Order: sequence, then structure tokens, then C-alpha cells
Amino acid sequence: MENFRALLVSKTDDGQKAEFVRLSEADLMEGDVVIDVAHSSINYKDGLAVTGKGPIIRKFPLIPGIDLAGTVRASTNPNWKVGDKVVLGGWGVGEGHHGGFSEVARVKGEWLVPLPKGFSTADAMAVGVAGYTAMLCVMALEEQGVQPAQGEILVTGAAGGVGSVAIALLSKLGFTVVAATGRPEEEAYLKSLGAASIIDRKELTGPVKALAKARWAGVIDTVGSTMLANAISQVLPEGTVAATGLAGGMDLPTSVAPFILRGVRLIGVNSVTTPEPRRRACWERIARDLDMGKLKAMTRHVKLDDVPAVAAEIVAGKVRGRVVVDIR
Ligand code: NDP
Repeated sequence: MENFRALLVSKTDDGQKAEFVRLSEADLMEGDVVIDVAHSSINYKDGLAVTGKGPIIRKFPLIPGIDLAGTVRASTNPNWKVGDKVVLGGWGVGEGHHGGFSEVARVKGEWLVPLPKGFSTADAMAVGVAGYTAMLCVMALEEQGVQPAQGEILVTGAAGGVGSVAIALLSKLGFTVVAATGRPEEEAYLKSLGAASIIDRKELTGPVKALAKARWAGVIDTVGSTMLANAISQVLPEGTVAATGLAGGMDLPTSVAPFILRGVRLIGVNSVTTPEPRRRACWERIARDLDMGKLKAMTRHVKLDDVPAVAAEIVAGKVRGRVVVDIR
């Protein structure tokens, strides 16, 4: 059987190690669709998985990579045939099921969506789980009735993957976006994506007041912890916060005041197990509402060999925008 290359993470006495190996299809986990992977991407979770800095991997040894796009090479699933171009993100791939940092993947057909029209596999992975999650966050704000005329939208972790795509989406939809970043040197980059202004993330890391001066009609938060708590305390009456990340920590030191005195809504956004109709709807919105020029401008391409180094960079908060992995 033909061998292919993959990055494999194994458990060791002192933690875990990531190494490049050659595998055959027999080494892959159960699934009814085999895919020639063309592209994957590096998300924060992949950084944690590859470096071992967070407990992402649930089964060792495992090929990390929470998203992938490629071409079906074999299928016993009635919905997919050889040659179909497909996209996958979430569903525990790269966590409990072999993922995208591999030339070949075997997965369940129900996890796949078709490559959106007009997208290459590289474009789909420039979006990847991060961009897809950004769209889910925008949809969450819209569903709570947040509209451009109501005021500014705060995006935290702005120069990261979810943050960058969220800014591009919101600005195309007519929202006034304020980008909170720890990298003020990225002001020109953030404005080129559509941010109207930036604030230093230090402004959101001080002691949390029960209620602070209200400013935001909506918030997309990728950081969690004190930054999310401060953002919540600054939301306008009836405003909405979409919380999706923990780059700054898992805790949430807030009070009930914003919820019971201002009617603030806190909506959790989880991309991993989004039901199929919403998943397809989300990709349709991405195809409609994401400026492809901005997507290209925020994306860098690396090779499979570069994944361990970039994984360390993303966990250190040093990656700007999105990173696509050219697998072949
Ligand atoms: P990135 O690393 O690309 O972006 C995270 C950004 O957060 C950084 O660029 C940085 O932005 C900021 N940041 C990093 N460390 C800290 C810190 N200690 N304190 C405050 N801010 C910090 O990651 P992604 O965009 O891929 O993911 C962002 C978050 O969203 C992650 O926590 C990830 O796990 C989560 N996520 C959740 C999903 C879900 O389904 N719930 C799906 C996808 C992502 P800057 O330099 O501009 O300050």
C-alpha cells in the first residue's frame, strides 16, 4: 500500500513529541471517505496540540490538524464520490481523530461540506476553523439583532486568525469595528482589514468593574478571562457579546450586573459540532461576505515541515492573521 507523510504526536515520559512519519492507509482511523489532503491550516488549538502546551489531544499517537481541504480519493458514503472537493473543520479531528497535517485523511462523510463555489482548497483553509468561527460569531450578533446603526463592535485578539477574519467580515457588513490588540504595531494591518480604530489591550486588562462606561453594541471575544469580563462591563444596554476563545485564559471574572441591569446577552460560539445545515449556511455567508482580497492579505503559506515552528509561534501570540499549510 502507498505510503504518505504525516506529522504524528506521541506521548513520552516527559510529555509528548511531534515527528514526521510515513504511514499507510491501514494506520488511519475509521471513516467512510478517504481524502487526498491539499491544504490544512494552523489554528490556536493546533498550536496547543503540536506543542503540548494544552490538553487538546485525547488519543495518542495522533495526527493533529483541526481542519483540512482536499479531494476525495475513495468513498463508501453515498453523499461523496471520488474527485469531489471537500472541506472539514472540527468534529474532533486533530483532537481524537487523525487530522489535517497529513497527505491523506480518512474521516466520516457526515463531517464534510463541499468546497464552496469559487474557492480553491487553499482559499478554504485561509478561512479554516478560525475564519469559519469568526463568521459564526458575526451570525450570533446578527441573530441577537445587533445592527451597524447601534454603535461600535469590539473585536479582541484582533490581529489573530479569528479576530482578523471577524474584522474583515464586520466591516464589509457596514459595522464600525474597534480592534483590541496587544500589538499596536499592527495598526496599519488592522485598519487595512477594515478596523475604524484600535485600542491597546491593556485598556481591557485592569480590574473589572461591575458596570463600566457603556460603549459597545456588540463584542466578538477570542481572549476570555479579564478581557472578556471588562468588555462585558462596557456593553451598551441590550448589546450582545459572542464569546469563542481563551487565548488569555479560561476563567471569567465577571458579575451579573451587566446581564440584569443592562440586559447584556452573552452568547457562546462553538465551531466544533455545528449541525450540518448551519455549517453549510455559514460557508455560504463566508462566500458572500468575506472580501477575498483581504483574506489573501491576512494569509501566509507554509509547508508541512514548518508546522512545529509555527505551532510554537501561534501559542506565543506571534502569528498575524491566518496560516495555510500547503500539504503537498
Ligand atoms: P490566534 O493565536 O491567531 O489569535 C489569538 C489572539 O489573541 C492573538 O493574536 C493575540 O491578539 C491575542 N492574545 C494572545 N495571547 C493573549 C493573552 N495572553 N492575552 C490577551 N490576548 C492574547 O488564535 P485563533 O484566532 O486561531 O483563535 C483565537 C481563540 O479562539 C483561541 O483561544 C481559540 O482556541 C479560540 N477558538 C475557538 C473556537 C471554538 O469553536 N470555540 C474555534 C476557533 C478558535 P493581539 O496580538 O491582537 O492582541
